[in-house]
Amino acid sequence: TGSGNGTLEIRTVDADGTRAVAVALAAVLRAGDLLVMDGPLGAGKTTFTQGLGDGLGVRGPVASPTFVIERVHPSLAGGPALVHVDAYRLGGGGDIDDLDLDADLDQAVTVVEWGRDRVEHLVDSYLLLELERPDQVDDPDDPDEPRTLRITPSGQRWDEVARDQLAAALTPV
Ligand code: ADP
Ligand code: MG
Repeated sequence: TGSGNGTLEIRTVDADGTRAVAVALAAVLRAGDLLVMDGPLGAGKTTFTQGLGDGLGVRGPVASPTFVIERVHPSLAGGPALVHVDAYRLGGGGDIDDLDLDADLDQAVTVVEWGRDRVEHLVDSYLLLELERPDQVDDPDDPDEPRTLRITPSGQRWDEVARDQLAAALTPV
């Protein structure tokens, strides 16, 4: 875990590691929080969202929403639902407002894959989560690869106290 400009940077070595970061993050999330995810195909956006689902204790499974753009996973524990959106198929001209995300934003933790520059206008605060494949190995015998996750908090929700909580939650990962 590192920091700079409020950005937390974490490296994982396999998919379970990426899920574990998400589980840890889920502990500080609450209803109304929005995660904007950016990173190329196969970077681990859906894998990360699976960890969020585990951490939040929602009804699964969290999967790539191939045929639907949005999936709602209700909480099994009385907490906020997880709203999982994949904006990829909206294309460049697609309008996120058509999804009517506003209806759920306040009651749920909302994650939007390919959400960068598409959903920030809907909220005052959000977490930008950038995923990178630093060195692509493509070894068929070992599907695990390193990933770099960068989490950048934005807006009043992520004031100094909340940022400290976030950093603390992610430190042992
Ligand atoms: P995206 O949603 O960004 O397109 P996915 O999460 O669907 O990406 O796919 C990521 C793929 O990469 C999965 O098959 C996962 O098992 C694999 N993988 C290998 N190493 C990692 C890692 N460190 N973190 C996340 N996923 C990883
Ligand atoms: Mg995906």
